[in-house]
Amino acid sequence: MSETMRGMRLGSQSLESDKGVELSARQLVEFKCPKGHEFSLAFAEGVELPLVWQCQRCQASARRLEQGMLVNGEGIEEVAPRTHYEMVKERRSEQELEQLLEEMLVSMRKRRAQGQVSA
Ligand SMILES: [Zn+2]
Repeated sequence: MSETMRGMRLGSQSLESDKGVELSARQLVEFKCPKGHEFSLAFAEGVELPLVWQCQRCQASARRLEQGMLVNGEGIEEVAPRTHYEMVKERRSEQELEQLLEEMLVSMRKRRAQGQVSA
């Protein structure tokens, strides 16, 4: 009885190691959309990887990244490596753009209001 139990335990151990092999056979594939959103998906090894995938954040078609390079139909093209500083800078410029837009709207409203006063 105890021998059978040991055999079962050994069996479950080998199953666990099988699972580990299955996991390592998966690969994380990175994608990057035109707006700079990056995400990665797990694909089984050996499958044909898609060149584009719909961005999960803005629904644009994101291109596949290979070692930091965009993959296109012909091969891979270089993209400038983005540092954390650059990403922060981009985010800030986005905020500045929004602020600029708001200021423009305010001054437009002011100008319109002034025009109404002088007319
Ligand atoms: Zn996106």
